[in-house]
Amino acid sequence: MSSSVVPEPVVPSSPSSLEESALAAAARAASRHGITEREFRASVTSVEHAAEPYQRALHVIERRRVVVRWDAGAPTRSTHAEPPPDPSRVDPWSVDAEQLARESRVVTVCLGCQGEKKRSCSDCAGTARRACGGCAGSGRVPGAKGGTKNCPTCRARGDVKCTACTSGKIDCVTCGADGRVDAWLAVEKEVLTQVQSHPANRASALHGKLTLPADFDAPARAWGNRLVEDGGVQPPTQPCPEALRPQLNAVEDRLVSTRVQAFMGDVFRVNYATARGRGVVEVAGVRFAVTGATVWTPLSQRTKASWAVGIGAVLAGLLLWGLYVSRHAWFAKHGQPALVLLPTLIAAFFAFKAAGQRFLAPPARSASAQKGLFGALAACWLVALGAFGLGGPTAQRAQAALDAGDRLRAREEIDAMVSLGRDREASERLADALHQVEVRLAETNPVEQARRVSESWNSPRAREEALAVLRANTRAASDARFKEGDARVLGAMARAVEGLLPEESPGLYGRAALARASACLKGQDFPCVEEELASPAAARAPAEELAAARAAHLAALETGRDEALARVAAARDLAAQRQALDDALGWLRRLLKAGHGTEATLTALGQRLAGVEAQLAAEKKRAEEQAERAAQIEAASYSGSGGGRVHVKGYHRKDGTYVSPHTRSRRR
Ligand SMILES: [Zn+2]
Ligand SMILES: [Zn+2]
Ligand SMILES: [Zn+2]
Repeated sequence: MSSSVVPEPVVPSSPSSLEESALAAAARAASRHGITEREFRASVTSVEHAAEPYQRALHVIERRRVVVRWDAGAPTRSTHAEPPPDPSRVDPWSVDAEQLARESRVVTVCLGCQGEKKRSCSDCAGTARRACGGCAGSGRVPGAKGGTKNCPTCRARGDVKCTACTSGKIDCVTCGADGRVDAWLAVEKEVLTQVQSHPANRASALHGKLTLPADFDAPARAWGNRLVEDGGVQPPTQPCPEALRPQLNAVEDRLVSTRVQAFMGDVFRVNYATARGRGVVEVAGVRFAVTGATVWTPLSQRTKASWAVGIGAVLAGLLLWGLYVSRHAWFAKHGQPALVLLPTLIAAFFAFKAAGQRFLAPPARSASAQKGLFGALAACWLVALGAFGLGGPTAQRAQAALDAGDRLRAREEIDAMVSLGRDREASERLADALHQVEVRLAETNPVEQARRVSESWNSPRAREEALAVLRANTRAASDARFKEGDARVLGAMARAVEGLLPEESPGLYGRAALARASACLKGQDFPCVEEELASPAAARAPAEELAAARAAHLAALETGRDEALARVAAARDLAAQRQALDDALGWLRRLLKAGHGTEATLTALGQRLAGVEAQLAAEKKRAEEQAERAAQIEAASYSGSGGGRVHVKGYHRKDGTYVSPHTRSRRR
């Protein structure tokens, strides 16, 4: 350690420039609390300056101690022993170390074995056995096929004999198993350092390594404060300030040297104010570090209040937006929700900044900034409120959508107008216009068209127009469907227009009946034809169509009759003739029922049929008798053969039923 340290020259700074630097440091620190440096400087109410001195001393101390030393010495084989020498009776600073060692040497009881020569074995704690290493003391080891087996090392005992001792005892190494040692007194020397500082103040608190001996020779910038004086390494004869004196042990310690350094710390208290209260920023040291005495509360309260205002403004904007979109689904879909919301969010930022201005102390506020912020805020809200108030569904847009054929869009526009009660007259007119478009579009399906016409209308005239369209379309469709013979659709149409076109409905029901009759006729289902043509619905069909249907019915019946009669004439045998006559009679009965032909023709044909049936019966009887005879002949030819059964050919009985060929037992 050098004994002549030249203090680094202190840069003289004028109080005003120091204060300016302190202010700048405080403003920089404050800027982290949401206030600009300019605003902070304007918020400063006063600056207090205090120069705080402190000193420290580095003491070098030599410490001497008298201690007992011993070694095994020469073997004595004797029980004689002296008490060990007492170090406390010797002053380490007045004695000669070599002479002391020589003169204090004695033979004394061994401290390691208390004269016993042997000591307890530390490996087995004197038990002479220690845990087996092969099984960790358990006596069992893992077997080859899983499970466990007895430990081969200790034979399942778990412990083995201790190899380090004999019966738990070992020879004492301190005395070489002699029980006696040589003991004497020695002087131990040690050099210590000690740092004392005074007073503890804000400036010294900034001096980080104040009490580290190495810091005495550190570069000046490490200290944080100005070094005023470095006294250099001085002998203990040099007077030392009371507070810096070393703490010494009167017996063992002697001061070797002392080095005193004096420092000066500048502490600036920068008092400031906001609209919400007063605070202070304290900076100290050559680097103007902010101390723990600083109070940021007014600034953090201002920040919180500004945030509260900003968040409130955001909520207000969200509320406006919520009102806008909740009025009607139209506004979210076709309105300007972004134009309502975005300006209010921007305005919230301006509100946040304006609140920051308002919560400053009056001298720090900027009138122009406030004016600008409030102006921008108001402008944003004007835009948002404008977007809120203006716009909405209009008749023009609805009309344009209608013209463009975009019915969905037109429907949305008109529904919104109706729901919001806007331009009632126009909205009703447009609703009817859209309704008419939809009616016209359903032209291909008269049933659907009728359903649409039956929905509510705003103006009776529009309804009349729609009914006219429906009427014309229904008539055309009725003609077309009747031509196709589609009874099902005709019936559905009749039901659909029943309440709308009372004059069209009966004709449709009638045509439906005629179409069904025609279908039955095609399928030769004459009872069905008769039923349909006789139904009250058929009576409502157009007269000439009903007549045509009846004529077709008659024509079909007459054709059937004529064909049957032709078959009668062409019949080769009585059975066919009888069948044809039966058919012809059926046709005649139907014709009579349809109001055609006479009872007389029917009777005549009936008698003819009776004649034919009588002939048939006679013929059958003959055939039966023949068969009987043939059977008897056959039976005769079979006699004796033991068959006992005859074959009978198929024949007609007298009542006209047919008996198929079979065998029966012989009659006796
Ligand atoms: Zn010993
Ligand atoms: Zn073992
Ligand atoms: Zn042992």
